[in-house]
Amino acid sequence: MKVGDIEKIGVAGAGTMGSGIAQVFASKGYEVVVTDIAEEQLRRSAKLVDIFNSSLIEEGIMLPEEAQKVKGLISYSTDKRDFSDADLIIEAIVEKMNIKQDFWHETEAIAKEDAFFATNTSGLSINGICEKVENKERFIGMHFWNPSHIIPLVELTKADETSDETVEELKKLMATIEKEAVVVQKDAPGFIGNRLQFAVFREALYIVDEGIATFEDVDKAMKYGPGFRYPVIGPLQTADLGGLDTFYYISDYLFEELSDMKKPPAMLQSMMDAGRLGVKSNKGFWDYSGDKQAEAIKTRDKMLFDMLKWSKKVRK
Ligand code: NAD
Repeated sequence: MKVGDIEKIGVAGAGTMGSGIAQVFASKGYEVVVTDIAEEQLRRSAKLVDIFNSSLIEEGIMLPEEAQKVKGLISYSTDKRDFSDADLIIEAIVEKMNIKQDFWHETEAIAKEDAFFATNTSGLSINGICEKVENKERFIGMHFWNPSHIIPLVELTKADETSDETVEELKKLMATIEKEAVVVQKDAPGFIGNRLQFAVFREALYIVDEGIATFEDVDKAMKYGPGFRYPVIGPLQTADLGGLDTFYYISDYLFEELSDMKKPPAMLQSMMDAGRLGVKSNKGFWDYSGDKQAEAIKTRDKMLFDMLKWSKKVRK
């Protein structure tokens, strides 16, 4: 199968990610069928797509008539057999290895022989998920980032038997839907994005736990320092521009000072035990009582949309 032959996308799982992925493909003109075991989730998913579309309209990224087209291109079903004519099937179901394995085993029996198979797992082994798939050459990890109608990155992770052709065709597909694909050459936990994100998270926790700085200043330092640069140049190009010799000398004394915790720190556990879970419980590191929760999410989304518009201009 070539990328140009792809017309219909099957999305399994009508949750947060499946709904976003369906919206992304339909907004680029693909026919999408979304399936779920729970009918209620399918109804919720259609509403989520409406919400994504409205925010894109509000931001001037989508026209109202385009939103109507997007809605028209997505159908919903509780019957997996509706994947029988899909050219690409993306699985975004619950993050449980055995459930994903069974899903793919059953799906292979229904699907076209040359359809591409992709899992949106956050971090389970891609080799593990496709264990019961006969033709593993067409199988790949396709990790969209939440909210997928905004965040450009998609990580394509090769399982041991994924063919080069599958990788190349799906890379082209990601370009067609205006996503930025990276290829993870080995089935490594955390792929690229989460390895980077959690290395920073571990160090941020350590800085606070050691009393080196307050949590407010850790967030501020990232936003106005390294984080300010990252949308423009990644960590390796930052070193190129700073001078690799200088970065070597700094690494030579600083690496040994950094956290090498193998488990989350007790501080995080005690915050959880105290019910401090972040926005969902109105308190995490920061306070989200009253209007602050809605405000935090609104501000984040507004800035992300501005970045999205900026990055599209930069790419053109
Ligand atoms: P979710 O809980 O919002 O949705 C999962 C959906 O899968 C539910 O509607 C559930 O009914 C359905 N489901 C469960 N078993 C099923 C089956 N056998 N067949 C069909 N549908 C089934 O979950 P989510 O957050 O959308 O995550 C889905 C996948 O995407 C997971 O693998 C997750 O790790 C990954 N992911 C999540 C995020 C995120 O931020 N939420 C980001 C990237 C990747």
